[in-house]
Amino acid sequence: MVLDDLGSSLRGTLDKLRGKSRISEEDVEEVVKEIQRSLLQADVDVSLVMELSDNIKQRALEEEPPSGTPARDFVLRIVYEELVDLIGDSTELPLEEQTIMLAGLQGSGKTTSAAKMAWWFSKKGLRPAVIQTDTFRPGAYDQAKQMAERAEVEFYGDPDNDDPVDIARKGLEATEDADVHIVDTAGRHALEDDLIDEIEEIEATVDPDISLLVLDAAIGQGAKEQAQQFDESVGIGGVVITKLDGTAKGGGALTAVNETDSSIAFLGTGEEVQDIERFEPEGFISRLLG
Ligand code: GDP
Repeated sequence: MVLDDLGSSLRGTLDKLRGKSRISEEDVEEVVKEIQRSLLQADVDVSLVMELSDNIKQRALEEEPPSGTPARDFVLRIVYEELVDLIGDSTELPLEEQTIMLAGLQGSGKTTSAAKMAWWFSKKGLRPAVIQTDTFRPGAYDQAKQMAERAEVEFYGDPDNDDPVDIARKGLEATEDADVHIVDTAGRHALEDDLIDEIEEIEATVDPDISLLVLDAAIGQGAKEQAQQFDESVGIGGVVITKLDGTAKGGGALTAVNETDSSIAFLGTGEEVQDIERFEPEGFISRLLG
């Protein structure tokens, strides 16, 4: 059965359904309440939680369980299906020549993720290059360069150039032999106009195949505005959620995926270049409900 790894209170509530073949409205209410609690704790957007729980409630009460299916498994299946429906499979990333641009606020983990993704593509037999266009954050160049060295991938940046668009253009030229170009961009503390203007210009210059929004797993309810803004300005095709090695559950990713009509591409699980995983829904959903 899916979702073996559930949080204890949800498991307890579901276990009360053990042995039952029919499920009452009261049972459904109790399960749904428990799921709401878990999702809100995991920082999933409030309106999204309400929408999800309404769907679960409606289906659990209206659908006929397949004969012989215990009520517990039936409800659990619906919960899982509704979450999978929302969250989807991991973002499709063909193993071929492409340009990927990263967007996100400062500290979200863009620079780290750029090197991790380059490492990941190199393990798939491709030749990636990281292009660092962050001229805003002191130290971004050195950090990116060091991480690219650790990932053993090509790198382009220019600490003496303060024009990110020019760096992006030169970076693509300088690394033209590479087949996967990962363009890191500057973040800010908030969604200021100059951040948005800058990333729009970089996007127009590098013409990425896909732009990924990098979000810290602890982002919480702030995910909505960020996702909307970046999607509006550069078009977000997928989400990278970082720092999942911490305690945050990453529910903000659900909001971002929902707002941008995209999916999750990668998960960051540590500070080293190897600490990256392709997203897969089952483990992530278990964590959200756990
Ligand atoms: P940027 O400003 O978006 O480029 O963010 P950075 O890549 O510099 O990351 C900000 C901080 O978060 C750095 O100290 C990183 O080492 C750390 N970081 C990034 N990703 C992860 C992750 O998946 N796990 C952990 N524990 N730390 C991370």
